Amino acid sequence: MFGAGLLKGLAETARNFVGSYHDPARLPTVEYPERRLASPENARVFPFLVYDGADPERGLRCVACKICEKECPPQCIYIVLERDERGKPQKHPRVFDLDVSVCMSCQICVEVCPFDAIRMDTAFEWSTPDRFGGLLLHKTDLAKPNRYYHQIHPTEAAETDARLAAEQAKAEAKAQAQAKPKAPPSQPAATPASATP
Ligand code: SF4
Ligand code: SF4
Repeated sequence: MFGAGLLKGLAETARNFVGSYHDPARLPTVEYPERRLASPENARVFPFLVYDGADPERGLRCVACKICEKECPPQCIYIVLERDERGKPQKHPRVFDLDVSVCMSCQICVEVCPFDAIRMDTAFEWSTPDRFGGLLLHKTDLAKPNRYYHQIHPTEAAETDARLAAEQAKAEAKAQAQAKPKAPPSQPAATPASATP
């Protein structure tokens, strides 16, 4: 029938309009900030650094390889490698800064990180009266525990943990195999005296 599609569309709109007064599933908005909707699992805002254990400094997974710094399109990551007193590199960031006023939430830093050290946060309330320094995050602001990662992205965090555990088990098995003492080379059988000319 001519116009059937139009009528169907109008009926759906009317159903949503009436439903929005009483059906919570059809309420498109909530009274923010008094009420807040939980962020969906695949939401992404700005990156944070994951740490394991209880120490946000020593537990950081980041080894300061600087791949994310190089690959970040707007260049909003700044890393300085930790060195000991003799200048030896320590596979740890002394400085890890991220300017979220420049970050475009592309997630490239997450995708290129070989150590699962950086992930996307779902926190979105970033307004600040300090327009010059308030959005420049330092290592202490960025470091968040693995349990936080599990809270905001449970599926992804469980997959990451399972993969890291499998990789660690594989590396340990390989190290054990290499540490096993090798069997000495077998000695050639002694020539019987009677066989000597
Ligand atoms: S999300 Fe994109 S823009 Fe933001 S820090 Fe990572 S790579 Fe850079
Ligand atoms: S977050 Fe990942 S890619 Fe970036 S410096 Fe640390 S280990 Fe390297």
